[in-house]
Amino acid sequence: MKQRSQCPACGFNAAPLIVDLPFDSAEIAGYLRAFYASYPRCDLAPLAGTRCQLADCPACGCRYQQGVPDDAFLANFYRSLGTSVAPVAFEPYRIEPIVRELMMVVRFLQPRVPCPRVLDFGTGEGRWATIAAAAGLTTGATDLTSHAFATLQRHGIACFDPAALAPADFDFINTEQVCEHLAAPAAILDQLSRVLRPGGVLKIGVPHDPNLRRKLRQPDWLAPKNSPDSLNGVAPIEHLNHFEPTSLIALAVRAGLQPLQIRGWTLVSPRSPPDSFGPRQRLGLWLRTKIGADDRTYHTLTQTIFFEKPLCAEAIGTAATHCVQP
Ligand SMILES: [Zn+2]
Repeated sequence: MKQRSQCPACGFNAAPLIVDLPFDSAEIAGYLRAFYASYPRCDLAPLAGTRCQLADCPACGCRYQQGVPDDAFLANFYRSLGTSVAPVAFEPYRIEPIVRELMMVVRFLQPRVPCPRVLDFGTGEGRWATIAAAAGLTTGATDLTSHAFATLQRHGIACFDPAALAPADFDFINTEQVCEHLAAPAAILDQLSRVLRPGGVLKIGVPHDPNLRRKLRQPDWLAPKNSPDSLNGVAPIEHLNHFEPTSLIALAVRAGLQPLQIRGWTLVSPRSPPDSFGPRQRLGLWLRTKIGADDRTYHTLTQTIFFEKPLCAEAIGTAATHCVQP
């Protein structure tokens, strides 16, 4: 176990522990047995004698595993979960939000960037990258596991080792369900900020459980995933960080990025001129928001925030977030 003495999002020192249990306690061992029952190759024995310690950062609200398994354990662990070799499913309900989101970012970047280069960081099976390439964008993909690379390359997608990404190479970087798994997210955000071109956009999509604080007062570690009391947001081993919107903003601001606002399906930069909506447009926007007509139809228990790398040394703007509540 490596100990994280600082909040991985904002860098706060000495956050108090709200969970402190041995990994072989009835609660945590029971959780792990139930959760990984269908993965017989998953070897959790190295965790014996270590503790599951969850810290609660008073500065940004991030709940994080204070002790994180070392890289060798995590590499073995994720390998033992296996990787799918089945073709990626492109169901319309999965494709639509990705396409709408891509169009939103492309509209934000154009006309300054006529043909954006996009990167899917932590591409997994490559659904996002494949859709971006099909939409005509110059697309790259990267992941610690390369099982999908051959297929992606056949679709014209350039595949990279994460350590080999070049500076200022992409206009849009997608990270979806990645940052919660990272032992050192600030270092990765620094890297991605360097890989972004000035004026480029970074998207962070992570889990967000708005009821987590209440659940942790009387934790039920055996509550099944997706049940009302599930603690999957802070799943030991896998979910090393549970970010609040303020945590994500602190994390990105440390990397020199500024949050963008979302209005309907439009990204708005702090440097954009004030909108010139009249009362009629404002009423329409309010109504569409009210009925969910222009909201991003993401699955529940997630949050997504878009950030911009300033074109020059601009002041970092005020916080703007988009959370999906269950
Ligand atoms: Zn913090």
